[in-house]
Amino acid sequence: MDTITQKRIEQLHPMVREEMKKIITECNTVLTGKAKVRITQGLRTFEEQNALYAKGRTSPGAKVTNAKGGQSVHNYGFAVDICLFIENKEVSWDIAKDWDNDKIADWLECVAIFNKYGWDWGGNWKKFKDYPHFEKRGFNDWRKLSKLKQVNGYIVTK
Ligand SMILES: [Zn+2]
Repeated sequence: MDTITQKRIEQLHPMVREEMKKIITECNTVLTGKAKVRITQGLRTFEEQNALYAKGRTSPGAKVTNAKGGQSVHNYGFAVDICLFIENKEVSWDIAKDWDNDKIADWLECVAIFNKYGWDWGGNWKKFKDYPHFEKRGFNDWRKLSKLKQVNGYIVTK
């Protein structure tokens, strides 16, 4: 896996770091063609989330999110966004492309692996589909997460 992905894994909640390494490694093993998985976003701090929320409201640009700091699972390190990285140079968010010619879209091969480890895919959401997004089942309710005690910037899960 590439160093950017490694760094983003190290910022996830400590509870899911080893698991995420396994998931990414397994995805990259199953994808035998030109595409490999990269994590484009893992932990987003409250501050970063608030800056995103300001876009299209108090700062220039279009609105990109309805979540303020603390209202996204990313703020607690239990969510990742991915892209496919093609031959180490080009990024792709094509969820239908079958880069390794095994008759299953590479993206969906990854979805199956994430699911096996207990990670839900934003592509399955009924209203707003967030195809790059995965979040840890059982830890994907920011309202609950926001009530838990935090130590060193991470909530205490047990
Ligand atoms: Zn996301």
